[in-house]
Amino acid sequence: MNIHFSQTNSRWDSVLSPIGGNRFELTLQFRIRLVRIEPTTQFYEGDTWASGNGVMHSPYHPFTHKLNTWNDLEWTNYRQEFCRVIEHNWSDKFMLIPNKAWYIPPPAGSDKVSAPVQCSLKIQLVDSASQHPHFTIRCIHPDKGFRSFMSPELRTGIITHDDLKFEWRVLPTKIGKQQHQIEYGQITVLHEFGHVLGFEHVNGSSAERWAYGITLEQRANLMGLGIHFSDKQARPWEATIRRHLIPENKYDRTVKFAGHLSSPQIIAYWDNDFDMKDPPPKAKSTKPAKGASGAHHSSSTIHGPAGVIWEHMANIPPAD
Ligand SMILES: [Zn+2]
Repeated sequence: MNIHFSQTNSRWDSVLSPIGGNRFELTLQFRIRLVRIEPTTQFYEGDTWASGNGVMHSPYHPFTHKLNTWNDLEWTNYRQEFCRVIEHNWSDKFMLIPNKAWYIPPPAGSDKVSAPVQCSLKIQLVDSASQHPHFTIRCIHPDKGFRSFMSPELRTGIITHDDLKFEWRVLPTKIGKQQHQIEYGQITVLHEFGHVLGFEHVNGSSAERWAYGITLEQRANLMGLGIHFSDKQARPWEATIRRHLIPENKYDRTVKFAGHLSSPQIIAYWDNDFDMKDPPPKAKSTKPAKGASGAHHSSSTIHGPAGVIWEHMANIPPAD
């Protein structure tokens, strides 16, 4: 197998490097330009636009937003936090497992081994279009709730000052035969970054509510309304490794990699109508965080993504 260590691409660059113990690390590298949108900034992003008079127009309700100014410290922190939240949650989430031995470790003449590949992600912020960003994201500070979005085909998008925080949304969801009021926890920017990586919504490419999922399991997913990752979300790494490993013979061509979640995940939803006699279905391959098992305790503390500590969320299915 020929190994290409580094690749550049229009959507992201990537590096494949050995990390010892017959393992590799595949890092997707993004150059992201965050544009600070002030009330005086003029911009046109599809149907969302501002003429610089402090008002932004959008095709979704509410149709106009007053834009606030970013103060310098807030903006500096936001830029750092953007990278930290995305890397912390999207990096080192998956492993690519080969179906057979493919790598000949040194010294030459050794037997082939089934080296697994750790899936990492790095963000480099750039300040101008001349630095060829892979994606340009406008950051707004609106006076009220705005529906953030990404346009992967244009490699642009709009997010808000609130999108790096953990937030809850309530949506009636059918559990068994009954509707339960379920609160879904999500960090919006992680969902939006899913679009940057090429994912559509969990139940289709639309922006209608059904596209965000119908079932609990769909809605709890990151590309629905939740924060739960599935094996499918390793796809960008599965696709990228094919650019790095160039088969030399027939055997090499039969080597395939499948992405799997490599760390336990928390289930970030709260069922307000939870009934011990009728527990909600368990999402597949999910392990609640330590201290999170049991239901109707209010004292367990859960260390969530992005360092969030939840004391609110103990009403989840018991551990396997
Ligand atoms: Zn979306």
